[in-house]
Amino acid sequence: MIKILANDGIHPAGQTQLEKEGFKVDTTKIAQEKLATQLNLYDAVIVRSATKIRKDLIDACPNLKLIARAGVGLDNIDVDYARSKNIRVINTPAASSQAVAELAFMHMLNLARFGYQSNRDMPSKGDTEFKALKKSYSKGRQLRGKTLGLIGFGRIGQETARIALGMGMKVLPVDLQIDAADITVDVAGTDGVTVRLKTVAWEEMIANSDFISLHVPFMGKALISTKDIEMMKDGVFIVNCSRGGTVDEDALLAGLESGKVAGAGLDVFENEPTPKKALLEHSRISLSPHIGASTVEAQANIGLELASKIYDHFIES
Ligand code: NAD
Repeated sequence: MIKILANDGIHPAGQTQLEKEGFKVDTTKIAQEKLATQLNLYDAVIVRSATKIRKDLIDACPNLKLIARAGVGLDNIDVDYARSKNIRVINTPAASSQAVAELAFMHMLNLARFGYQSNRDMPSKGDTEFKALKKSYSKGRQLRGKTLGLIGFGRIGQETARIALGMGMKVLPVDLQIDAADITVDVAGTDGVTVRLKTVAWEEMIANSDFISLHVPFMGKALISTKDIEMMKDGVFIVNCSRGGTVDEDALLAGLESGKVAGAGLDVFENEPTPKKALLEHSRISLSPHIGASTVEAQANIGLELASKIYDHFIES
């Protein structure tokens, strides 16, 4: 029987699936320092970000055939070394795309209707200054008919486009590698409506978007800096649910101060877990603490995607 150690846990949906397929899944947590003597009893290990699978551990486990990361980032695994020892390394990059795209829209809707601000004010002033608050927050905007610029048109960018099309937005994606993608919008009672979206030039996206949402990895320097903000429409909204650092935070704060940027939605920050106070306390920033991928559904998807990939590895191939 193939034995799997889920050292940082696994969603019950994935565990049940694996057990149905005849795998033995052990969810007892083994302390990092004890793994060198105990992990070799298993054929596969599933980790999140807590357990580290480094070179010395790999050397101590010649029996190990597969390392599975429940999630995306592989920083806690010496991937190249594992592969050089014929150990397969897998992750689940697609399982949380919908969750992140929906969070980007939470921020966009929040910004458009002052949701984040009225939620801060209503508990303290809602019963004494109701009419004043109503007046303050009555100039919201609607998303239908607006243009959404997408920086990064990969998995999450395309999910975000799917929601945008469903809401009647025009979408202007940019991407270094992707020229076009077919986006199918689910419409109840049909097989879906498919729209081919072509990527556009950076300048076209920057100059014409009412909302700009980032869905790119961090590549060492900010993609949105002062000069990009200057090229944007007056009153633009910027949403970042990708990685801290992709938007220059000082440039963003300056853009908010000048009024060029009407509002920002941030799930990610340059110096997590201690983001700048100036961002956290800003009256026109909608905030969340890096929860893009963290939904019940995404966790179940991760478990099921892992179960399917593990099955393919051990049984199908
Ligand atoms: P992906 O690899 O499918 O897509 C990323 C796309 O960005 C690629 O198509 C790539 O060509 C493009 N790209 C890279 N650099 C670019 C640039 N300078 N200009 C234009 N396009 C560029 O990745 P994904 O699954 O869509 O994830 C996107 C980002 O979301 C990643 O940074 C990931 O770390 C982040 N993410 C955040 C959360 C969260 O909790 N907020 C969760 C999951 C993923």
